[in-house]
Amino acid sequence: MRDLTTLNVQELEAFFNSFDTVLSDIDGVLWNVLHSIPGATDAISSLKKINKRVILVTNNTIRTTSTLYKELKDAGFDIEENSLVTPALAMVSYLRKHNITDKKIYVIGMTPLKDLLRQAGFEIVDIPAGRIEESIQTLVALTTVDDEDVGVVIADADVNRNYVKLQKAVTFLQRKDVVFLSGATDEKLSLGKGYILLGPGYFLKILEDMTGRKAVALAKPSANLNDYVVDEFKIKDLSRVLFVGDSIAEDMGFAASCGYKKLLVLSGLAKKSALEKWEFPEEYKPDFYVDSLKSVHDLIVRVLETKVTTTKK
Ligand SMILES: [Mg+2]
Repeated sequence: MRDLTTLNVQELEAFFNSFDTVLSDIDGVLWNVLHSIPGATDAISSLKKINKRVILVTNNTIRTTSTLYKELKDAGFDIEENSLVTPALAMVSYLRKHNITDKKIYVIGMTPLKDLLRQAGFEIVDIPAGRIEESIQTLVALTTVDDEDVGVVIADADVNRNYVKLQKAVTFLQRKDVVFLSGATDEKLSLGKGYILLGPGYFLKILEDMTGRKAVALAKPSANLNDYVVDEFKIKDLSRVLFVGDSIAEDMGFAASCGYKKLLVLSGLAKKSALEKWEFPEEYKPDFYVDSLKSVHDLIVRVLETKVTTTKK
């Protein structure tokens, strides 16, 4: 673990020559939910200027990919719509790859995920949202009736998830042939400026504990997501990929299980103190860390300027 800004120019050149593709997380790296991260747009442009392919990988399914793309463009990021990776895209790909296309899907998730699944031709089972009568009879009537046509349960982030939705998922998951997929498993979500949200991981854990099932996770840090990334972007040499993220557990964990190089930014979830008092598996340790992507931009400028100066001499 080295502070990237302490490298000399030769070491920096070696670092920037050590990868062709940058996989970057979005929240906490490019922006925080409540504010932008200065210098992040410049960093993405600089990485592209030195011929790095940039792919963005987020666990966040609160927006459709087209909305996310538009918001990134509006914020000034030089990226392509087809270089976005979300658990929703990976789920569609997983279901198709495993020929699970004729079963109904019960989704604990938000509208963008459901819309994407519908657009991909899947039939979604929804249950009425909202307040129910406070009686066990009503709860039982609403949640314990199975539907044999449901062959997939998806558990993802959902700001409207509630007792009834979770209980209904438990009913479907009693059948062992029901495929169980999950999106993000984060237990904490950082909004920046000290705001922390209860993440979807805790709710997923309820379903897994209740049913004795383990979901196939299609979000970081699960390597299942990487199967999608490698297929979709035809990545040949995983060691020539740099993963940039702000979460040690999700991002560095994902990069470690995929064999990617790791750069941790301290502009989101992870704080410098976590590096000083390491409480994660050894293999999650980033190769390098920086305060924010702004440093990456500044370092690329430095390397390029040195090259120009050397050439002029
Ligand atoms: Mg993040």
